[in-house]
Amino acid sequence: MSDKRTRFETLAVHGGEPRPAADGSVVFPLYQGTVFEAGSGGDAPYIRLGTNPTQRHLEARLAALEGAESAVATGSGMAAITAALHSVLGSGGHLIAAGAFYGGTHRFLAEHAARLGWDFDLVDPGDAAAWRRALRPRTRAFLTETITNPTIRVGDLVGAARFAREHGLTSVIDNTLATPVVFRPHTVGFDLVCHSATKALNGHSDLAAGVVTGTRERLERVRSVQRAYGSALDPHAAFLLSRGLKTLALRVRQQNANAQAVAELLAGHEAVAQVRYPGLAAHPDHGRAAAWFDGFGSVLTFRAAGGGPAAEVVVKALRLPYDASSLGGVESLVTRLGPHGLVRFSAGIEAPADLVEDFAQALDGAR
Ligand SMILES: *Cc1c(COP(=O)(O)O)cnc(C)c1O
Repeated sequence: MSDKRTRFETLAVHGGEPRPAADGSVVFPLYQGTVFEAGSGGDAPYIRLGTNPTQRHLEARLAALEGAESAVATGSGMAAITAALHSVLGSGGHLIAAGAFYGGTHRFLAEHAARLGWDFDLVDPGDAAAWRRALRPRTRAFLTETITNPTIRVGDLVGAARFAREHGLTSVIDNTLATPVVFRPHTVGFDLVCHSATKALNGHSDLAAGVVTGTRERLERVRSVQRAYGSALDPHAAFLLSRGLKTLALRVRQQNANAQAVAELLAGHEAVAQVRYPGLAAHPDHGRAAAWFDGFGSVLTFRAAGGGPAAEVVVKALRLPYDASSLGGVESLVTRLGPHGLVRFSAGIEAPADLVEDFAQALDGAR
């Protein structure tokens, strides 16, 4: 089992599955029920507590995929991130936020942190000197992203986990863009790993979910927040997500290959001013990504040479990717980010040659 590719693909199918199978069913059953008999001793399962068997089964699957002791599944990615932060930032806590950050995370910090008695410093995820300058006696947590969204940078992830440990901070990472196929943050020492499972973990653009993984002890605190705020994942969504996870490795490897193929086309095209994809040797963080990742992710950004109007022409001329704002699904998507011609591409699982041909014809029209 020394080939980590083989291992992860096996884990995606079998990780966390009860053996022998429940009632002999190879697919774990969907228990949609909210109420359970008390039985003998212990608390009866209850849906908001996340103890319905389908919810618990999904959590065992998610913990296995991140190589964690425990997982808490939530109703969205934002519910996961906010539960993780609530679990570590008491009243008056300070957070070092090292990343560019997904819009929802950024907005949560900007609009709600102060009201909760927290404050934070936004710093560069690659600049350890800036982390040290941001340290205060009240600093409790260090938050970062594996691949920053939408800037597509890879910070000093190994250094960040070490920095947090040295200073007694809880390290929290949003691993959504990478997925555990590409990077498993617990293996380099991150304490809490968060995902929007709405994206690649489910992969089919048909449910909202999130997850936090970590040690049992840390996850007890996350679960306590999740129960208090009532953000448990609905069992039907849990059942579908568990199904989506079976093909995670296959989907993400195809998405990574497609993103690489499109990145290479864009990098050589005169209608493109700049491409950001960690799989390109010219990317400033290519060395880190090559050293730590298994694949370079499914998301890239590019800037049209002709600015906003040219980006508009390209996006309209593309026949395969939807012009829609998300990432990680089986369908390729393009998203226009701001008025200056910046476009994000999230690779789906289409044939790479079809995507390359489609981008070539769309870019040729924007020359
Ligand atoms: C989408 C996303 C989130 C938020 O997830 P939701 O499921 O929409 O709440 C958080 N982080 C990243 C990187 C995302 O892409």
